[in-house]
Amino acid sequence: MHFGQISALEIIHKIFEAEQVPVDTLPQLIADKKRLSGKILNLADYAEELIVRRELSMNFCFYNQLYDSAQCLPIWARKTLNDHLLDAREQQYSLDRLEEGETNDIYWNAAQKQMLSTGKMHGYMRMYWGKRLLAWCPSVDEAFEILLYLNNKYELDGRDVNAYAGVAWCFGKHDRPWAQRPIYGMVRYMNANGLKRKFDMNTYLAKVELLRGKDEILA
Ligand SMILES: Cc1cc2nc3c(=O)[nH]c(=O)nc-3n(C[C@H](O)[C@H](O)[C@H](O)COP(=O)(O)OP(=O)(O)OC[C@H]3O[C@@H](n4cnc5c(N)ncnc54)[C@H](O)[C@@H]3O)c2cc1C
Repeated sequence: MHFGQISALEIIHKIFEAEQVPVDTLPQLIADKKRLSGKILNLADYAEELIVRRELSMNFCFYNQLYDSAQCLPIWARKTLNDHLLDAREQQYSLDRLEEGETNDIYWNAAQKQMLSTGKMHGYMRMYWGKRLLAWCPSVDEAFEILLYLNNKYELDGRDVNAYAGVAWCFGKHDRPWAQRPIYGMVRYMNANGLKRKFDMNTYLAKVELLRGKDEILA
C-alpha cells in the first residue's frame, strides 16, 4: 500500500469475498464490533484499521497544515505537556545514542534495533517506542521531531500519512486525556510492565538479538 502496488479497496473486497460476507455490511460490522467474536471480529478489526484509521490519517494530513510538528496536537495535550515541562527527565540521550539503540531501556533498544535491521517494528512496540521519548526529551516539540526523523528514515512505510498520525497519536492526537502523571501529564502512558503483560518480551529480545547477529555476519 505504501508504494501504491495494492489498494485498500482491493484488499477489502478480496477479504470479504473470501469470508463470504457482503461488503456492504462493513459499516455495520465496524459499528457492532463489541458484539462480535472470532473470525468475523478479526474481519471487522482489520477493516476498521484499514479504512477508519488509515483514512483518519489521510484527513489529518490533508486538513491540518501543522501535521509534521507538535503544533498539530490538540490544545489539551499541548497544555498538559507544557504544564510538566519542568519535571525532571529520566535521562537525556544524544540523537546518535538513540539511533544506535543505546539507552538504558532494553525494550526500547530492541524495538529500535528491530527497525534498523528490518525496516519494520511491531505496531504495539511502535506506540511504546514513541511515547518513551517524552521521558527523555526536554519538550514534546523535540520528541516529535526525533520520532518523526527516526520513523521516516528507517521504517519501510515511513513518510506515509499514517506515520504522521501515528507519531502525533503518541503525544495525544486522536486520543483523550488520562490520569495525571509526571512528564506525561494527561497523555496516555505506556510502561514496560504493560509490555510484559501483552508480549513474551524475553522471546522478543532474543529474536532481535538474532537479527543483529545476522547483520554482523553480513557486514
Ligand atoms: C510511532 C508510530 C509511527 C508509525 N509510523 C507509521 C508509518 O510510518 N507508516 C504507517 O503506515 N503507519 C505508521 N504507524 C501506524 C501503524 O503502526 C501502522 O499502520 C501499522 O502498524 C501497520 O501494520 P500492519 O500493516 O501490520 O497493520 P494491520 O494491523 O494489518 O492493519 C492493516 C492496515 O490498517 C492500517 N492501519 C493499521 N493501524 C493503523 C494506525 N494506527 N493508523 C493508521 N492506519 C493504520 C494500515 O494501512 C495497515 O497496513 C505508526 C504508528 C506509531 C505509533
